[in-house]
Amino acid sequence: MQTISNYNFKGKKALIRVDFNVPLNENFEITDDTRMRAALPTIKKIIEGGGSPIIMSHLGRPKNGPEDKFSLNPLVNHLSELLGGATVKIAPDCIGDEVKKMANNVQPGEVLILENLRFYKEETKGDEGFAAKLAENGDCWVNDAFGTAHRAHASTAVIAKFFPTDKMFGYLIESEVKSLDKVVKEPQRPFTAIMGGAKVSSKITIIENLLDKVDNLILGGGMTFTFVKANGGKVGGSICEDDFLDTAKNIQKLAVEKGVNLVIATDVLAADDFSQDANTKVVPSGEIPEGWEGLDAGPESIAMFKEVIEKSGTILWNGPVGVFEIEKFSGGSVAIGNAVVEATKNGAFSLVGGGDSVALVNQFGFADGVSYISTAGGALLEYLEGKTLPGIAAVRGE
Ligand code: AMP
Repeated sequence: MQTISNYNFKGKKALIRVDFNVPLNENFEITDDTRMRAALPTIKKIIEGGGSPIIMSHLGRPKNGPEDKFSLNPLVNHLSELLGGATVKIAPDCIGDEVKKMANNVQPGEVLILENLRFYKEETKGDEGFAAKLAENGDCWVNDAFGTAHRAHASTAVIAKFFPTDKMFGYLIESEVKSLDKVVKEPQRPFTAIMGGAKVSSKITIIENLLDKVDNLILGGGMTFTFVKANGGKVGGSICEDDFLDTAKNIQKLAVEKGVNLVIATDVLAADDFSQDANTKVVPSGEIPEGWEGLDAGPESIAMFKEVIEKSGTILWNGPVGVFEIEKFSGGSVAIGNAVVEATKNGAFSLVGGGDSVALVNQFGFADGVSYISTAGGALLEYLEGKTLPGIAAVRGE
């Protein structure tokens, strides 16, 4: 298989599928450029090899064709800055004669960004004709968008057939797969997964799958209360999915059967309002009064989580254990972050992934203290579930 390290990019127009789906504020300023930075090693390698990167990405969820607010325009200058002043141009579209002409005229060392792929419905439908038109803009295809690798879209998978030999992973996907395999294939034990976030429903498949792999499973955040209620506790106004009470019971049963140490908060920081001005008190997680809701882990739970994390050989962390966006309820997630960093210092391999977790580690400065941060959400979860990702299979020719 071709790899980015040994491919000769000299004089080549390299079509790279990246995940530049960055958050923009109302002034179209990039509020977090992690995903752009993640693609830099690949882009630089192509430039240094004498090629021209032709960048393909989606941004947001445009519904019916082109919309200014989903244009990739706001990324042009920032990418140029990140590349030390390289010339970065943007095409008015991602397919068509004009775009092809621009791609043909790109000089070695220059970068061309194609306009948002999702201005065409054909992209997400995986349309072969559309993929063929995209393919006309380059001499080789580099897939570096791990975030969309679980989708069989035109630019992430279908396009592969137009580059039977000249196709490869970018450095980001290469390193994602290597790091994930450290967790999925040969974890150093004990292996601890920390699953937080709002709902059980969005994480159920991965939780069930992890039960076959982990030694410890810490379940935190909003999903705590579905478990607490399933066990007969009182959850007050806490977020709780009544349709998933049986699911929660079943997870607990499976954990016992599989010998997994399931760790769920025993106390929580409850609040009388979802705000920084709320009154708060620590209560047992099954004794939350009416009018109060659990918004963070309590001190006893934090101590329990820490003890498990600090003894771990492999840690997978997805999702905050409280409403970390509000400072008053960020203590539990910060304590988890510190424990993960401590364990990593002592030799554990720690992988943090999922949109919110990445924001969290960046916001609280844990990024340098963990082994690997995955920029992917859905793709990460599907990989951990053991599924074949179309964007990976397409490059491997599977
Ligand atoms: P997810 O996307 O499922 O990982 O959920 C992340 C979100 O869960 C964050 O925005 C948190 O604010 C939220 N969250 C964490 N703990 C709680 C909680 N106890 N109650 C309500 N929301 C929570």
